[in-house]
Amino acid sequence: MKTGFESSRTAALELLDVAVPPSHEWKLRRKTPLVPNSIRKLLRPLFEQIGQSSFAWRAESVGFWRTPEGRYWLPRLVFQRSRDQAQIRLAIFAGIHGDEPAGVQALCELVRTLDSAPWLGRQYLIHVYPLCNPTGYEDGTRESRAGKDLNREFWRGSLEPEVHLLEREILRSKYDGFISLHSDDSSEGLYGFVRGATLTEHLLRPALAAAEALLPVNETAEIDGFHAINGIIRSGYDGVLSAPPGTTPEPFEVILESPAAAPLYLQSASLLRALLEIMRHYRRLIAFAADL
Ligand SMILES: [Zn+2]
Repeated sequence: MKTGFESSRTAALELLDVAVPPSHEWKLRRKTPLVPNSIRKLLRPLFEQIGQSSFAWRAESVGFWRTPEGRYWLPRLVFQRSRDQAQIRLAIFAGIHGDEPAGVQALCELVRTLDSAPWLGRQYLIHVYPLCNPTGYEDGTRESRAGKDLNREFWRGSLEPEVHLLEREILRSKYDGFISLHSDDSSEGLYGFVRGATLTEHLLRPALAAAEALLPVNETAEIDGFHAINGIIRSGYDGVLSAPPGTTPEPFEVILESPAAAPLYLQSASLLRALLEIMRHYRRLIAFAADL
């Protein structure tokens, strides 16, 4: 048992040590914040927890790429409590815009929450992608260091390495559901986009209601240039991180947005609450459909 722990702990930590040399964090770059956000600082406690004490999570790398500043990698955290019961395949993404840390923190909290509550998530196989734009996260910018808004690049033959790796993951894994976490500095409340399967709206509505205990929902009729009803938008931008066009059966797809001006801990806590509510409702909807 100890050997298993040790090897998974070492494997998880090696990803950090190999991929991001410590000195790299202090190199000065154009467009960088005064103190660059540290990927190591963000992920190390999480990876340590997963390596040392988690039976349900494992930490992996989806792939590497090189930039003039060094080598970067996309982390993936896999949750599976029981091989027999896990039938719902869920993908959760955060940090595709590098200046939206609330979603990244919410996913770190999701790891801790599911670790400490063994009755949660038994039916799920979850792939969590906590940091989809590592260079943007370091620089504190929406775009990647290549100057691209990665969330407009999907399924368009993009050459961006982050997009290529995520598209490959999505094609391989055939998810039943997609949840993306974002923050919006022009919104005073929580809201979300629904795409894909028609039941998606029945997931977002209770999710916003649950999160509203912490932050208000944006009730305006127009949000981000789109028509909205009770914080729900049914259209969206092209090229966002999603299932490939034409996927059947259609997975559910939710994009959650927190108000970026709110305190960070409230944003991440409300996003986490919304996530857990979506998981709870989807499981119930699936069970109900199976009984029909
Ligand atoms: Zn965003």
